[in-house]
Amino acid sequence: MRPQSVQHKPTPAVGRWVDGLRQMLAAPPRSATGAAPALRLRVQCGQCGELISARIDKANDLLCEYPDSARDDEAPHPTGYTLHKELVGRQCQNLVHLTVHFSDHRRATRHEIEGGVLLGWEDCQ
Ligand SMILES: [Zn+2]
Repeated sequence: MRPQSVQHKPTPAVGRWVDGLRQMLAAPPRSATGAAPALRLRVQCGQCGELISARIDKANDLLCEYPDSARDDEAPHPTGYTLHKELVGRQCQNLVHLTVHFSDHRRATRHEIEGGVLLGWEDCQ
């Protein structure tokens, strides 16, 4: 008696699961990871109260921060990023100096501001 032939039917359930996994890997949740390409800042002028909005390109506008001790043999890994931005509204000439610090995953963590108030920031495209 011949052995039963091995079945070669496709298994669609597993195929769908793999496709779903691929989509997850391709598009992580941006808001949670800080992986959005840009940041929208909302600043209020300290002189006239005008609301100023600025878009920050994370790929181009951030400066790398390196640990002070990593000057030797190994290529240093950035410990974080810093943004320096000067903003001027339309209603007056007051200059707002803004510095935003980012984690090594480019997620905004804290800020310093002169000449105005930072009302908020959010990830954007
Ligand atoms: Zn102003």
